[in-house]
Amino acid sequence: METFVTIERALTIAQHTPLQSSTEWVTLNQAHNRILAEDLTSKVNDPPFDNSAMDGWAVRSTDEIRVEVGVTAAGTPPLEIKLGEAIRIMTGAPMPEGADAIVMIEDGLQGKAHTNFIRRCGENLRQGDTALFTNQVMTPAAISLAATMGHATIPVCKKLRVAVISTGDELIPPGDELNEGQIYESNSYGICALLEKIGCIPLQHEVVNDTMEGLRNTLDSLDCDAILTSGGVSMGEFDYVRKLMEEEGDLHFWKVAMRPGGPPLFGTWKGTPLFGLPGNPVSSHLVFLMIVAPWLAPKFPLGKEVNVRMKDPVKGAPGKVCLRRIQISTENGELVATTHTHQGSGNIHSMVAHNGVTVLPPDTSANTGDMIPALWLH
Ligand code: AMP
Ligand code: MG
Repeated sequence: METFVTIERALTIAQHTPLQSSTEWVTLNQAHNRILAEDLTSKVNDPPFDNSAMDGWAVRSTDEIRVEVGVTAAGTPPLEIKLGEAIRIMTGAPMPEGADAIVMIEDGLQGKAHTNFIRRCGENLRQGDTALFTNQVMTPAAISLAATMGHATIPVCKKLRVAVISTGDELIPPGDELNEGQIYESNSYGICALLEKIGCIPLQHEVVNDTMEGLRNTLDSLDCDAILTSGGVSMGEFDYVRKLMEEEGDLHFWKVAMRPGGPPLFGTWKGTPLFGLPGNPVSSHLVFLMIVAPWLAPKFPLGKEVNVRMKDPVKGAPGKVCLRRIQISTENGELVATTHTHQGSGNIHSMVAHNGVTVLPPDTSANTGDMIPALWLH
């Protein structure tokens, strides 16, 4: 077990514990943002036959005078022309045999013949070519390409099923009446949304109270690929996630050199990987952004690394990377950043009022005008 690791080290340690990776077949309409599980080869040439790139006439480039003898449209078998003949042709219609050029409709039948207005069989892809690769994200364009290549269904990585468990005696579901000392439970909702955003299936569990037994029973009852808990990982008397993982789980790291978000832990509970996120709402969000998401879904970065010029001073943290919430915008072609709200790790509003975070190296503060690394969130 390692303690007080860097963000990079935390990610490396988590990556040593493999996540399940089985394959399922989905139709193209279910394929958006899925991760391709195998290379895909084209079942056909693209295009499958020579065809016209323009509306006009299919002609012989050597003819000087042409006579129209027919019409051809997309979706029909190829016709044929002889000396001096032309065929009206629509975009996508197969080139008639004997024709080697297209005259554009705008130029009239005796206009200039273009040999380059023909889309040649296989000029985009040859049958058997690999054009989609294992581990790539199925974007809308990739989905169209899979269809062009003749695939009705494709193999993708199964979505990871991730249990989300908030711990704490003070936590009440939003909507219920709050009694003294209670607060609304918010972390599990945000974390479930984050999981959806990166292509996982969130399994939201009801709040677990601060007892060893309750927590143990809950963890034992889960059927999932990974577990995310929130709360109960610091030094407190009732921080039972940490205690249980120390005593009965297999702990790989505890505490990361970041602020907010200091006390997360990672390990396995009876073989299932478990991330213990801190309870403070900003902390749990930022640990998810910085470590959990890159581990679960490296293909879905939740932010973009940028450099920003600070318009307000921001204070760093001794020995820790400091993630202050900032609002990033463009000014005179440069990215600039301001801060607006209270920066406490309990203030989730700071994550809504801003669109980024500083990534200040340990022991580094920034003055107004300084250029600093940041993460632009989307
Ligand atoms: P803990 O890490 O359990 O000591 O919690 C740290 C702080 O975060 C406490 O003020 C908790 O009340 C708060 N907190 C813990 N879990 C949640 C949650 N799921 N939603 C909102 N606040 C939480
Ligand atoms: Mg707690």
